[in-house]
Amino acid sequence: MSSRPDPAAKTREPGLSTLAVHAGQTPDPATGAIMTPVYLTSTYVQEWPDRHKGYDYSRTVHPTRRALEACLAALEGAAHGLAFASGMAAISTVVEALNPGDHVLCANDVYGGTYRAFTKVFARFGVKFTFVDMSDLEAVENAFTKETKLLWVETPSNPLLKIADIRALAALSRAKGAKLAVDNTFASPALQRPLSLGADVVVHSTTKYLGGHSDVVGGAVLTSDGELFEKYKFLQNSLGAVPGPLDCFLVLRGAKTLPLRLERHCENALAVAKHLLGHPEVAKVHYPGLPTHPGHEIAKAQMKGFGGMISFELKGDLERAKRMISSCRIFALAESLGGVESLIGHPATMTHGAIPREERLKAGLTDGLIRLSVGVEDAADLLADLDSAIVASLKP
Ligand SMILES: *Cc1c(COP(=O)(O)O)cnc(C)c1O
Repeated sequence: MSSRPDPAAKTREPGLSTLAVHAGQTPDPATGAIMTPVYLTSTYVQEWPDRHKGYDYSRTVHPTRRALEACLAALEGAAHGLAFASGMAAISTVVEALNPGDHVLCANDVYGGTYRAFTKVFARFGVKFTFVDMSDLEAVENAFTKETKLLWVETPSNPLLKIADIRALAALSRAKGAKLAVDNTFASPALQRPLSLGADVVVHSTTKYLGGHSDVVGGAVLTSDGELFEKYKFLQNSLGAVPGPLDCFLVLRGAKTLPLRLERHCENALAVAKHLLGHPEVAKVHYPGLPTHPGHEIAKAQMKGFGGMISFELKGDLERAKRMISSCRIFALAESLGGVESLIGHPATMTHGAIPREERLKAGLTDGLIRLSVGVEDAADLLADLDSAIVASLKP
């Protein structure tokens, strides 16, 4: 059989854009199709009992999924990758590898779904959780117990875009004999590669930047730790939260343009952040790309760009914030993030609505706080859209 040289082969270390287009994907040997086929099959014919082409049953192993897993692993610089049916399924898998009595140190501003799964599901199985400000290294160090097995970090965080120092947390967790897991959904591997900074595990909601087109829900776990990988692989097959073939294809296709899209997301977000910073109706802007952001220096050291997520405080009350987010024409009022289209949301009533107001305010999630997922449209149109919505929100 003639074999074509593999563009992602490790003759020299390929760049991220090359990996995004090629890693894990070779033309279909049967037809030469350049795109990885969507293999709609649950099982595979064996020529002899247990003699087959590496595929026996699709929960266990699937060719489209395998291409995606290899691609995502390459993007994060990981030896191993596993794809899941959602970000939550990926996150759950990492915790399912723990035992009753094990302790997890988790960021206190973690994604709401993660908080819910940890406190309402895994706590019932005897896993213990402490929530701590991951940007305060002393507080993190003091929160370790003899049972601490895992540190759970998101950076930038949601919705205040706080920055945690991945290198410092990796050193700390290593010294304490714990593993560091980073939810890299907000940054994506185009901007931040936690494994290269010392983290042990990276998880993703591929629903967001990796998929990038708001057309699929998915998740992934990436690691170079062979022992952890074996545990996660066993759980993936045992519990079965696997993505379907078409979902794998969509994430695989989306990931091809990840570095390209993120360039524009970053460029647009910086333009929006600077514009809002100078706006008389805006009290505060949270964006790690602004020199005024408390995590700016760490972000500069560990990220290639500052991302597409911004939050800001609109002056005035809750009702005004609601009017503003409902008055945009380009920014769509919706949950989620990371797609090509710009989205706007109100943490107090949407993503963080379940948190009691007192606690919410203590965490800095004010009534006027608005979150933006800045898309890849023309920046001038986005600025004009926000401006006119702010004007429209002035009159009830
Ligand atoms: C969306 C999200 C998740 C959950 O992912 P799903 O794909 O919705 O299950 C986890 N972490 C972060 C940071 C997210 O934004």
